[in-house]
Amino acid sequence: MSSGFDSSRRQLFRGDIRVQRLPTRPPWSVDESNFIQDCTRCHECVKSCPENILEVGSGGFPEVNFQKGECSFCSDCAAVCEAPVYRSVQESPWQQTAKIGEACVTHKQVVCRSCGENCEPEAIQFKLVAGRVAVPEIDLDLCNGCGACVAVCPTRAVKVSTDESEAVH
Ligand code: SF4
Ligand code: SF4
Ligand code: SF4
Repeated sequence: MSSGFDSSRRQLFRGDIRVQRLPTRPPWSVDESNFIQDCTRCHECVKSCPENILEVGSGGFPEVNFQKGECSFCSDCAAVCEAPVYRSVQESPWQQTAKIGEACVTHKQVVCRSCGENCEPEAIQFKLVAGRVAVPEIDLDLCNGCGACVAVCPTRAVKVSTDESEAVH
């Protein structure tokens, strides 16, 4: 259990807020301030992840790295954790969704469908426009934020984030 919101935790939280780059915490995590306060940094969640997408990040806190793979929502991380930093796994795992930036090669008329081919919920559709390369569009209602579209993108054009933060990959 945590001994409190010590200065290193406070500094980390404020620093992240200031630059608006909150790391992606594991699915079902409580909000950032409570996570930083109560996570004991035992790293059991990191060891438990079968997809190996959890790693020890800034300040020793666990974060998701979608460059390593996708979340399968197995909930092993939440099950192994003894701190009060996970919500019920019956709830939605997180609010984040994928976003595609200008680096997408289709904007340069290069054909690519890697992100869509890896999207299990079929949230990425390619809009056909006569005479131009089809451009990916994400249906935010279908996207579950699993991150399967991130590592496969040749130009790192895909980020997974909430509206309030830009996820770090
Ligand atoms: S739900 Fe499973 S795959 Fe996703 S981060 Fe947790 S342990 Fe890894
Ligand atoms: S994060 Fe997952 S569900 Fe969302 S667009 Fe990417 S692959 Fe599809
Ligand atoms: S994988 Fe990347 S470059 Fe390819 S279509 Fe998707 S966003 Fe564009």
